[in-house]
This record gives sequence, structure tokens and C-alpha cells, in this order.
Amino acid sequence: MTGDVNTVPLRAAPIDGESVDSWIEELARRHRLSPSQLLPALGLPERARSIHRLIKATPEESWRRMECVAGMPEGGLRSVQLAGQAMRMTLVGGGTRFCPVCLGENGGRWLLAWRSNWAVACTRHRLLLLDSCPSCARTLRVYLPGGTEELPPGTCAYQPQHRSTRCGTDLAALSGIPAPQVALEAQDWIDGLQRDADRNGDLDSAITLDELPAVAYWLMGHEGTDWQARAAELAPGRARTTLLVLNGRLPKADAPLVAVVLDMARTVLGADHEAGVAAVRELSSGRRTRTGVVPAGMNFHRWKTMKGPFPNRFLQSIDTDMTPMDRLRFKSPTPQAGKPGNRTAETRGRHIPHLIWPDWAGLLLPLRSGFRSELFRATAATCLLIPGSSERAYRDLTTHFNRRVTSAHLSVLLQSFGDLPESGLTDVLAAFCRIADYLDTCGSPIDYQRRRERIPAHSLITWPQWRDLACEAGFHPGKSPRDDQTARGRHLHAQRHLLQLLTGADLGVDGHRFGFTGSSDHSRYVTFTHQLTLPLRSALAGHAQRILDDLEIDEPVTWSPPLDLAHGLTLPGALPSTLDTTTIRRIVIEDQRPVSEAAEVLGVHVEHVALALQHLDRPERDWSPRALPQSWKRRQAMPRIATRDFFEHEYVGANRTLHDLAAETGFSRSLLAQAARSHKIPLNKGKAPAINDPAWLRDQYHGQRKSTSTIAEELGTTQMTVNNALHRLGVTPRPPGIHSSEQMINRLDGRLAKDIRAAVEGSLGGWERLHRFQIAMVFPTLKAAAEHLGIPPRTLVVQFQRLERDIGAEIFVRSTGGTPQQPTKRGRRLLDHLEKPHIRSQMAKSIADHELDRLAEHQAAAAQQQFPRPRRSVSPFTEIPVTRLRITAAMLALLKDLMTHSDGECYGALVIDRLKRDPGNIYEQLHRLQAAGWITNRVEDDASWNSRATPGRGPGRRRTYYRLTSAGRDAILHEIARWPTRRRTRERAQSRTDG
Ligand SMILES: [Zn+2]
Ligand SMILES: [Zn+2]
Repeated sequence: MTGDVNTVPLRAAPIDGESVDSWIEELARRHRLSPSQLLPALGLPERARSIHRLIKATPEESWRRMECVAGMPEGGLRSVQLAGQAMRMTLVGGGTRFCPVCLGENGGRWLLAWRSNWAVACTRHRLLLLDSCPSCARTLRVYLPGGTEELPPGTCAYQPQHRSTRCGTDLAALSGIPAPQVALEAQDWIDGLQRDADRNGDLDSAITLDELPAVAYWLMGHEGTDWQARAAELAPGRARTTLLVLNGRLPKADAPLVAVVLDMARTVLGADHEAGVAAVRELSSGRRTRTGVVPAGMNFHRWKTMKGPFPNRFLQSIDTDMTPMDRLRFKSPTPQAGKPGNRTAETRGRHIPHLIWPDWAGLLLPLRSGFRSELFRATAATCLLIPGSSERAYRDLTTHFNRRVTSAHLSVLLQSFGDLPESGLTDVLAAFCRIADYLDTCGSPIDYQRRRERIPAHSLITWPQWRDLACEAGFHPGKSPRDDQTARGRHLHAQRHLLQLLTGADLGVDGHRFGFTGSSDHSRYVTFTHQLTLPLRSALAGHAQRILDDLEIDEPVTWSPPLDLAHGLTLPGALPSTLDTTTIRRIVIEDQRPVSEAAEVLGVHVEHVALALQHLDRPERDWSPRALPQSWKRRQAMPRIATRDFFEHEYVGANRTLHDLAAETGFSRSLLAQAARSHKIPLNKGKAPAINDPAWLRDQYHGQRKSTSTIAEELGTTQMTVNNALHRLGVTPRPPGIHSSEQMINRLDGRLAKDIRAAVEGSLGGWERLHRFQIAMVFPTLKAAAEHLGIPPRTLVVQFQRLERDIGAEIFVRSTGGTPQQPTKRGRRLLDHLEKPHIRSQMAKSIADHELDRLAEHQAAAAQQQFPRPRRSVSPFTEIPVTRLRITAAMLALLKDLMTHSDGECYGALVIDRLKRDPGNIYEQLHRLQAAGWITNRVEDDASWNSRATPGRGPGRRRTYYRLTSAGRDAILHEIARWPTRRRTRERAQSRTDG
């Protein structure tokens, strides 16, 4: 230290744990000075008379200077100084408590520890510390005593104003109050914390001590507890101290009061976590603040800076009172509950895929729920960002993480977990928190963010790569891409699968490069992933690994947080591996039923079955030899089998044809030819001459209108060769199929009648139709004509409709009740043309012999004969006021039935049932009778109609009820009476109409 310091002549060493003011006082006493007089010599300012200042605010160099002045070695005051730092909470207003017995034993020296607010008892003497001088009731040792007189050790130095004497009570002679067990235990706890924090550098203890004032203050504010009464129990007859409400600081309180508060604080902050949570829950029940997450009565700024056990226990205690989102943010369902920080979620996001890991999706997705699996997985993944992040931070993060997941999705998801009947929301939230904590502390081997940035969203696998990979695994690779850029079909799905495998990408995001074009595209992709076989899955995973290697990313392809994290939690889903795989295999793989059916049978979500399918092998499909996987495999085997030796031996040596070799090996001839050429084996020329003259081919094909098969036949080659030549030589093909047949193309002589040309040109069978028309018109009805031709009448109807369509006009009128069919004017003209000799001959040429019909005139005449002449109308009734109708046998049967049941109503189906007749007939007759006034009708009313409805279906058609009128009854009686005289003619008519 500085050389010009004058040392004081006498020495005094501080005792263990002594307060610096006590040491200064002792030093002054030895020099027969008062402590204030010694201050300038020690280099301390006047304001150091405040002991509080002296302890807390003495700078480092002043300590060293004091050591010099007092003639001590450097660091001689270190123990006093360090003890000062350790004292975290001095008494409000300064001053000190004391144990009278200790004071006496120390020779009136004061300990620093007594100045702490938390000092309540002397554990050595099992006494409560005293707060003040019992004589003058003053707080002791706030200032270093002034004046000039010497002070006896261990006495009260209080000097009232305007008095010359001090109080002078011998404090060391007091007997003290025995400390109750509660106070001693509290003191032990505090001493332990101090010791751990200061000597062992234990952070937890230090944090607990830091939190203690705010917690103690919060406890004292608890209205349900009468702290004063409790303190009075500890120290009967103690003077009641006032509870001063200070801003966030501990009120002035005496040792007994502090002791009872500490006792409670020891439960709240102590080692027993569960008891702490329970105590906080009891203390805070019914005391909720508006925001709900700050303890009522606690200073907000203190709360904000608290990081220790109290916020943790408080949040856990109010866990179930908070919204699911807050519970997640504060991690309150877990022992790690705490106030959110700001930046944890950002780094965590790097380790989370956009769709939550498959196993976890299985565990979390409720077995019976209507969640859409991809949106569920996306939302669940986003949930992992929430634990421990501040409200603003997670709102920002969720929007940047996966654009399609909104806050609404998150709340709906959490809400629906709460609505589940069995497993609780709490366990789901705990699972999210545990995963998040695991990612924060242990990280993950996969940086998904880097993958999202660096793995290209295109060219993940080229078509040849995919084709080889799929065919190798016996899986059809689907359509080849139209060009090099655009993958489609299964190739596209394979790219999607790879991207999801690597980055956990959510393809449902709007505008994703691999996004779905619609729901059918999406379901095709889902089906694709269901159908992947194990060998193909592992091949794709291998490909994914190569992609990572190319990008120099040294990570496994997939990873997921350990499933141990779910230990002890009841989650709403199930691990795919725990499902009944036998049933899934039977339904989905063996019976090829939809995945949803298996899900229904097992009572799980479709996604669970889909996840389980990923671990089930399915037999390779049997492909036909022509299918791509088979031909690919042959092609792969080609170089091994179709060697030069093979050709020399089999083709050249044994003189076999490529055709034979193709049949034997299963390779196509062209492949064999290609291989032979590559081995420089000369190929034998085929027999057929090559077609190399386009002009000749064009003449044959277009000029002479020969078919390719005719040309091939004439050349002695195959039709395929001719077709290839057409293509190679650039000859335009004719329309395909029958459109290039002779009849379709040929045109008739332009001088022929227009209607004939219209009927014949550009169609097949035109002449046949005309011929049949000729024949049909001889007969009175189409039916008779069809009978004659031996074909169903319907055929004629269709053929004549076609004729009329081709000609563009009606050509005949069909027979009606009494009129035979007859040609229209246009039809008559057509028939006339057909009679002309040159047309007859042309027709005869075009119609095959068996089609030509020589009309048997007598057949036609007989048909004409059978056709009844037009009937005279029936004469009207004279007496009965209804229209008279013609009565057939069928009508008579109906009338008789109506008479038999004339007392009530009837409806169509009932009558049909009774008569066993054709429905159309009956309804028509009922209608006629009603129109003629024989019967009345009414439509069924609503009540009756609805009463007929079968459960789950509608009531069907409404009924119409009929009832005989009295005039109708008379008319029926009249007709029944007349019937026998007309029976013969009627029966003949009947036999005709019934066919
Ligand atoms: Zn003591
Ligand atoms: Zn006193």
C-alpha cells in the first residue's frame, strides 16, 4: 500500500464472522477513542458512520488501506470483507439482531450474520435473536457511536437527543428467548443455502436466496394467513411489529415474524418439489390476476426477473387453470415449467421437420378422430416450437415455420386433445414439452433447416435412376416423363416421397413445387406410399443417403426423438408397431381392400394403418412378360446371355432364326438383333422385300385404295411391315378401322337419286337397309315384315331410323290402330327409284346372296288379309251419362274386377296384382275409363303417403286411388250383358293385340 500511511500503534484482529463496525469499535477501544474518532485515521469518510454503508459501499482500496493502518498483513480483513458480500439481505433500516449469549462469549463483539434479515435464531444456543434493546426499544448499531467517550463492549450505545448519557444496557447479560424448532429449522435452511451459495458456488442456492425476498413478501401479503398471530405463538409477549408495505421489498419484521414466514418459504422453495407445488397451489388458489400467469400480489418486475424454483412451482401449480397454449408455452405440465425465453424456439425449429416424425405422429394422433393426417402432422410439428417461447416469438416463428399452419390450427388441435374422452390433454402437452426440451438439451443429428435450404426441390431422382430402382425391386415405375424436366405419375410420387423422407416436407403448403394438383392427385400419392414394398423403401432410403453424401451432409437419412420420452404418459394414439399387423396384412395386402377398411376393423385412424404398412413386406407382384419390370429385368440379363458365343453357336452355327431364339430366351427379336449387331454378327436378310418406293406405295394405298393387309399379302410380308413403311416413307394414313373400308370410301355415280346416295355413301349396309325398306313396305306392319325376314322388329325400327337420318326426311308412317304402315311421299319416290333396273342390279351386286330376299307375294297378301279393316266407332250410350268405350277382352276383365271390388277404392298396383297383367296396359285403361267418366280418381294424401315410408328411405311413388262412379257401374253392367254376342270378333282382336 502507499508508503505515507501512518499505522496506528495498537493492534486488534477481527474474530471469526465479525462485522467490520465491531472490529473498528474494538480497535478504537484499545486506543481509548470512540469509533468515529478512529475513522479519519483509517482513511474512511464521515459517511462511513452509517454501518450499512460501511459494510456495503467501502471500496476495495479502502479495505487495503485499513489493513495497512491497522498493521495487518494484506488480506487480513478479507474474511470480514467476504462475509459482507455474502450478506444478501440486510435488515430494513440497517441495524442488527443479536444472540445475547454469543455476545457475552465473544466479549461484546458483534457478528455480521446478525445483520441479515434472514437471521432469526442462534442455532448454537437455541435462542431467538433479539431485535432491539429491551430498555430503550431501539434498533441497535445503525451508526458507529460518535462523541469522545469510550464505550464498554456489548452495551446499548443509544443516546437520546439533548441527553448526555447513553442507554448503556448490558446486552450480553440478557437471557434471551428459547427458539422454537420451527425457527431453528428455518435458520438451518437459510445457513445451508448461504454456505452452498458462497463457499460451494451452488447456483441453485444463490438463485433461491435471490428469490427469497420477493417470495417472502408475496407470502406476507397472503390474506388467508395471520402471520402476526403465528409469530406471537413463537415468542409470547413479543411487541407486535408493523408490517410496512414497501415496494417489492420485505417489510420490517422482527425475528419471530421472519421465522414463521421463512418456515413457509422453506416449504415453497425447499428441496421437496411436490410439497412446494402443493403449497403454492394452496396459497394461490382463488388469487388469480387478470393475466393469470403472474402471482397475485407479486411485483411484476420481480416476477419477470425470477428464474428459480418459485416461477417453476407457481406455473406448475396453476397448470390446469391456463389455456392449453399457455400451458405449452410455460411447459407447466412438466417439472421443467418456467417462464419462456425468447430465442429457444428458433434454434429448435432447425431440428424439427415440417411433418412430425412418423412414430410420434402415431403416438399423438388420436385413434378415433377425424383429423386429416398431414395437417395433423404439420400442426403437431409446429406445436413443438411453442414450449418455452414467448408469445410474440412463437407467433413469429409459427408463421415462418410452416405457412399453412395458423394459430387457429394450433388452438383447434390443442382444444380437440382436451375434448378426447380418455387420455388427457396434459399428457399430450407433456409429450410436446419433453420433445422440445430434448431437442434443446440434446439436439438432433439432423439439421432439417439446412436440408430444407439445400436439398433441391427437383431432380431428386432422375427417370432412369427411378426406373432402375423400381424395376430392380419388382415395382412398376409408372409413366416415363414427357420430357427431361417434368416428372409425372409414380416418378413424381417417388420424388415427393424422397423429399418427405429427407426434409419431412409438408407438401400440402400452397404453391409447393411438389404440391398436389387436386384431391385425386393427393390420394394417388397416398396410395403410392401405401404400396411401396420394403425392398423399394430401402432402395429409396439408399438413394436419399446418396443425395446427402453428394451435398456433403454427414447425417443419417432419418431420425426421431427417442420414444422413451413418452414414458409414463398416456397418449391418444398408438405406435404403429403395436397394431395388429396380421389383420392389416390380411385386409390390405392379401385381400387388397382399402386401408380405411383395416382402420375401421382395428378401430384406429387410417394414418396408423398407413404407418404400420411401412414396416410390412408385401409380395412382389407377378408382372406379365411384356410389363416394364419384366422387360427391364430381361434387358439387364441380356449382356449375360446374349453373348457373342451364344450368337455364333446358336444363330450362325445351328442356323436358327432370331424368331426361334426369341421364343427360347424371351428376349424380343429386335433386342436380339440389336445385340447381334453389337457383336458384329451379320444378320440374315428376311424374305420380304423392303418397301422403299413411296410413289408406288402411295398409288397402292391411296390410288387403288388397297388395305395395308392386302398390300402385305401381295408382297408376302406382314401388315406391320407395310404400316412401318407408310410411316417411314411419309404416306399419310387413311382413317382407321371400317372408315377405310371400300364401302365407306366408295362414292356412287352422281347421277343416281340423291336419297339413294345419301342412304348408301359413307356407311356400311346402306343397300341392305334400302332392300329391307322395300320389303317392309309390302307388309301392313313392321312386325309382320320382321316376322317374314326372321329378325326382331326392333332391328327394323333401328335400321329405318338410320335411313331417315341419312336421307334427312321421314320415309314412312307407322301403322296405327286400324291403318297399315305406308311410305311417305318421299318414301314412295325412294321405292320407285329402287324399282329401276340399273339400281336393282347395283343393289344385287352389293348385297350378299343370303341377304337378297325374293318376296313371296302370297305372304304379303296373307299379312294384308290379317290386318283388320278400320273399325267403325262404337255407338254412344243413350241412357248412361258416360262416354262409351270400345271393350276388349282385357278391358272387360278389368271392368269385372272393378265391379267385384266396387265398394272401395283401388289403385293400379293392387289391380295389377289381382289380374296378373302388364302394368302399362292397366294404367292406360284406367286412364281411359277415368277420362270417359266411368271412374273418378284422387291422389294419395300426404299422411298416408308418408306413413308408407320405410325407415331410412323415402315413401316412394304416390298412389292414385280410383273409385267407380254410379254411371260407370251402369255402363259396366250394360257392356257385360252385351259381351257374349260379340265374343267371337273380340277374341280375334284380342289374340292380335296380345301377340
Ligand atoms: Zn448464541
Ligand atoms: Zn438501550
